[in-house]
Amino acid sequence: MFSLVIPVYNEEKLLNELAGRAIKAVESFTPDYEIIFVDDGSTDNSLPHLLEIRKNNPSVKILALSRNFGHQPALTAGLEHAQGEIIAMMDGDLQDPPELLPEMYTKIASGDYDVISARKTGRRGKPVRKLYAGIFHRFFRSTAGLKNMSNYGNFSMMNRMAADALLSMKEKVRYLPGLRSYIGFRHGEIEFIRDPRYSGKSKMSLRRLFTLGADAIFSFSRFPIRLCLILGLLGTLVFLGAGIYVIIAKISGTAIPGWSSTLLSIYFLGSIQLVFLGIIGEYIYRNYKESQNRPVYFVKKYYSGEPGK
Ligand code: UDP
Ligand code: MG
Repeated sequence: MFSLVIPVYNEEKLLNELAGRAIKAVESFTPDYEIIFVDDGSTDNSLPHLLEIRKNNPSVKILALSRNFGHQPALTAGLEHAQGEIIAMMDGDLQDPPELLPEMYTKIASGDYDVISARKTGRRGKPVRKLYAGIFHRFFRSTAGLKNMSNYGNFSMMNRMAADALLSMKEKVRYLPGLRSYIGFRHGEIEFIRDPRYSGKSKMSLRRLFTLGADAIFSFSRFPIRLCLILGLLGTLVFLGAGIYVIIAKISGTAIPGWSSTLLSIYFLGSIQLVFLGIIGEYIYRNYKESQNRPVYFVKKYYSGEPGK
């Protein structure tokens, strides 16, 4: 069986188009499939719309979560419920075109790859988002030390072995594109240009985007904490030099009253310390999240059995 996981949060306007295109694309390569829509606590009519779609096609399943948990938890929920031997995930706003699924499927089914990621070679859409994404991907790639990492989002397909590996990582702070690279295996890619969303507005506010970026970087890279160390060491060297200079000046009697240099170094040190307290706080917060060990999501109902159930 083939499983396709699609998270949906307040997307009522595009569900018909989405389901139509996804079903058509999937049926072009296999009759044995399930499409799991994860309703991430939508407050519009997404769930009734999905139930309507399911009436006509029982291969469409709906995993309704108990509230809005966010994009990555919703994807995780869908993946954990997927039964397929080959599993794909994509966004529910048609930014990831379903028409690419057959090409990805051919690659996985050939047995040459365990994971296929869709690489964004370009984006149509808001320049600010483009810029943010560009900076993030570059920074992430250079600090995370992951092989098989490029401009990947969530749009991807994998076989059961890779999916099980991905799901065996139970961490609460989840950045799936990073985790997907982390598992290794044979990784391939297809290229695409990311469309703007079909309708509606992005659910990712600037704050959510920042959290996602921070989650990714803090959970895959030791760069921030190493930066503390490096700057700390550099600072020590500089102040050692300055200390020696001060002592020499004192002894030779050329010391002059210098409040500006004093103030500057206080400001400088103070702000650096604050920044690094913040960085350490980010780690402590994430550590705390992991130790709470709360489930990443709760399921309200899984519509997956007989039609209508
Ligand atoms: N999404 C979700 N839960 C959320 C936010 C978004 O399931 O809390 C879904 C959303 O419906 C869409 C996908 O995740 O299918 C990507 O969201 P969006 O397009 O808003 O993000 P962007 O493409 O702007 O990063
Ligand atoms: Mg989108």
